[in-house]
Amino acid sequence: MFSRILTQKSTGSCWANIERLRGVLAKADAVVVGAGAGLSASAGFTYSGRRFEENFGDFIEKYGIRDMYSGGFFPFGSPEEYWAWWSRHIAVNRYTRPPKPVYDDLLKLVKDREYFVLTTNVDHQFQLAGFDKRRLFYTQGDYGLWQCSAPCHQKTYDNEETVRRMVSEQRDMRVPAELVPHCPKCGRPMTMNLRCDNTFVEDTGWHAAAERYIQFLRRHRGLRVVFLELGVGGNTPAIIKYPFWKMTGENSAATYVCVNFNEAFAPDGIRARSICIEGDIGELLLATGDLHG
Ligand SMILES: [Zn+2]
Repeated sequence: MFSRILTQKSTGSCWANIERLRGVLAKADAVVVGAGAGLSASAGFTYSGRRFEENFGDFIEKYGIRDMYSGGFFPFGSPEEYWAWWSRHIAVNRYTRPPKPVYDDLLKLVKDREYFVLTTNVDHQFQLAGFDKRRLFYTQGDYGLWQCSAPCHQKTYDNEETVRRMVSEQRDMRVPAELVPHCPKCGRPMTMNLRCDNTFVEDTGWHAAAERYIQFLRRHRGLRVVFLELGVGGNTPAIIKYPFWKMTGENSAATYVCVNFNEAFAPDGIRARSICIEGDIGELLLATGDLHG
């Protein structure tokens, strides 16, 4: 159960950390999960290698694109080609379950507790795994939603039906012209509802989720809260990592948990109430929950 990957990446105190984690979870009044890209990577959602080559072989051959991430910035010559790429990207990363059951295992660990999830991931895998959507806040958007590129109005649109048609009807890396999406109000091109710059649309669903998150934190203020940070990198620390540090610092009953493949650490002020574990998140969840044994 306690895999080689986890032990290799960890210090000798790893078992002790897992025992501590079990202990604080057992006594917790609430668990606030903060999830970053490392969680989906642990579930097998890698942007390069076989998964990329199997789905984008023609784009690799024609343009030499090296992975799904950089391909998202490629200056395709036409909207038909742009949407051939993006519809595949969305289908593979938003409407498909990942290879490993890491999200399912996380759900088993929190589902009978008071929990809330704050995530920068836009692949919607929490909902696909069965997490309660009223306990989720996707701060950075969702591959499954489109918005006006201007934007001329603050609304988002579900793209599943069109994306599936784009994938099945595209030929030679081009979708049919009639599937290229335009804003129903102003006619400009539609774009993904992702926070890349200040054109990101925060629709009513986004604001409702933000409010539920604030209320959840308020209800558990001063209680035994576990801030469980999973796979949060250094790119956007202001969304999950820094607030988790701050809230742990302000609540002497709280515990900060940082699980990351590399660089799991906590600042001095909260170190005594922190559990930092370097290793694979999926392996850690198995070891913590005894989920399959
Ligand atoms: Zn518009």
